[in-house]
Amino acid sequence: DLWPHPSHLLVIGDLGVGKTSIIKRYVHQNFSHYRATIGVDFALKVLHWDPETVVRLQLWDIAGQERFGNMTRVYYREVMGAFIVFDVTRPATFEAVAKWKNDLDSKLTLPNGKPVSVVLLANKCDQAKDVLMNNGLKMDQFCKEHGFVGWFETSAKENINIDEASRYLVKHILANECDLMESIEPDVVKPHLTSPKVVSCSSCLLQTSGE
Ligand code: GDP
Repeated sequence: DLWPHPSHLLVIGDLGVGKTSIIKRYVHQNFSHYRATIGVDFALKVLHWDPETVVRLQLWDIAGQERFGNMTRVYYREVMGAFIVFDVTRPATFEAVAKWKNDLDSKLTLPNGKPVSVVLLANKCDQAKDVLMNNGLKMDQFCKEHGFVGWFETSAKENINIDEASRYLVKHILANECDLMESIEPDVVKPHLTSPKVVSCSSCLLQTSGE
């Protein structure tokens, strides 16, 4: 059991992009509302990484510039990774992504000095089947330029790529933890093309891979 304590992940992005829906989809029933008392929602997820490893994740639903700004250092200290989410149907939410990333980078570094792993989620892909289809290369370039470890098209509504994106982020976090970053070659495997599921989102261009 590599991680006896929960690893904290932030889920960040503009209002309405689907952060809460993604977390709810991912953790199923284990979603608690703590907004009233501490100003943010969080949820717990137990991920059975492999037969020997159970990973406990605590996901923080961060909405709004002011609330992120108000998060205390206590939370920051525990953070191992983040998702930055935008809504593929609203370009303004994509334009905000770089701002979110810069903000995060200015506030968070791991104890070993490395940046926190951040995955970009293009959510609501069920709504915009062709938006990103021809933009894969641009997205790859964008991720490289802005220091994202990868990107996925997701749909909280249709449960597309949520688990896959999370496993991908956890893989990077584990690699960071073990100082094995070299063993991951994000350029070799396109993260958004590795889903083992057949999905209905045509823009994801996914095929079965044996499951
Ligand atoms: P948040 O403000 O970022 O937490 O966004 P919410 O999770 O509250 O979602 C905002 C709205 O978008 C809600 O009406 C959701 O039902 C809807 N929504 C979230 N994810 C998806 C998705 O993947 N596809 C579609 N079609 N709608 C979604």
